[in-house]
Amino acid sequence: MGTGKKCPKCDRVVPMSDDNCSCGFVFSKASLIALQGENKVERVVITDIQMSFGSMVVFMVGWALASIPAFIILFLFGLVAFVVLGAIGITAF
Ligand SMILES: [Zn+2]
Repeated sequence: MGTGKKCPKCDRVVPMSDDNCSCGFVFSKASLIALQGENKVERVVITDIQMSFGSMVVFMVGWALASIPAFIILFLFGLVAFVVLGAIGITAF
């Protein structure tokens, strides 16, 4: 498969050397940024999340369980920082 870029308008793969797609989309920085802005606005519009109580509980329990290893990692980082700073303190005074 050759290298190409995906047209954000029609999802067709266009060769990297081409500056515009057959659908009429022009691969310029300005048009790509403008399209990203449009997507951002669309994402902002979708704000209301419909979630049942049961699935919310499952989601929150999963989140809490996932946070345990994250806290362990943060604790280890803190321990390393404490030991290093302590060693610096001992050698300095
Ligand atoms: Zn296109």
